[in-house]
Amino acid sequence: MKHIAKKRFGQNFLTDRAIINSLIDAIAPQSQDIMIEIGPGLGAMTQPLLQHLDHLHVVEIDRDIISWMQGVYPAGKVTIHNSDALKFDFTQVSDRIRVVGNLPYNISTPILFHLLDNVSHIIDMHFMLQKEVVERMVAAPSTPSYGRLSVMLQYRLHMEYLITVPPEAFEPAPKVESAFVRAIPFATLPYPAKDEALLAKIVTSAFGQRRKTLRNTLKGLLDDAGFSALGLDSQLRAENLSIAEFVNIANYLAA
Ligand code: SAH
Repeated sequence: MKHIAKKRFGQNFLTDRAIINSLIDAIAPQSQDIMIEIGPGLGAMTQPLLQHLDHLHVVEIDRDIISWMQGVYPAGKVTIHNSDALKFDFTQVSDRIRVVGNLPYNISTPILFHLLDNVSHIIDMHFMLQKEVVERMVAAPSTPSYGRLSVMLQYRLHMEYLITVPPEAFEPAPKVESAFVRAIPFATLPYPAKDEALLAKIVTSAFGQRRKTLRNTLKGLLDDAGFSALGLDSQLRAENLSIAEFVNIANYLAA
């Protein structure tokens, strides 16, 4: 099909065969998997996925692509959902889904948080994202990329940086490098928070002003007595705290 890439839908189509093959290898699709591909576009990943899968669900926002897909994929093989992935109810498909996608970069963070809301239904996720975002997702404490995104995702998900992908692998080429990442929800949370909304609030406050000490950023939440009860140095910054330490603060305040 002749299709002009639409900027507003973040369309950068994968064209590099070798890279597509390595992504499919990393996903390791099994025939019986219940898989959902977000943003199938012109099928760069869809087609090779279908060689392994009995069936695939796709969620696509672009009506032009939807009508093209309807003529290409047999209905029994692909279920086409014409929807904004940000509004799509992933749980309606099954309670054991695998999610993949070369995601539109402009909505990558909101999609991740949307999926986190339904994480109990998800077996695993494989995404192509801006490399800089993937670095933040997998970052360890006391590194420049470590922030709110790292903590909120790693609280629930085991994350793996898989493959760096250069701009030339796409058409049109994006301005930045991309990376492929795997996220697997923990069956049992390593550091469960008693009140997850409170954890989110603490993490947001702490990273709100990255360069300030916890004593400043957690003012009104954690006082000096709290810091000493937790054995925590109030002169540290958010970027120095592990997930376990954030959870300790939340659980102390929840008690
Ligand atoms: N997977 C294809 C296309 C990637 S481009 C490939 O690798 O070549 C991103 C795709 O996501 C496009 O098809 C675009 O139309 C779609 N898209 C953009 N925003 C979306 C949204 N909010 N919900 C669902 N799909 C979206």
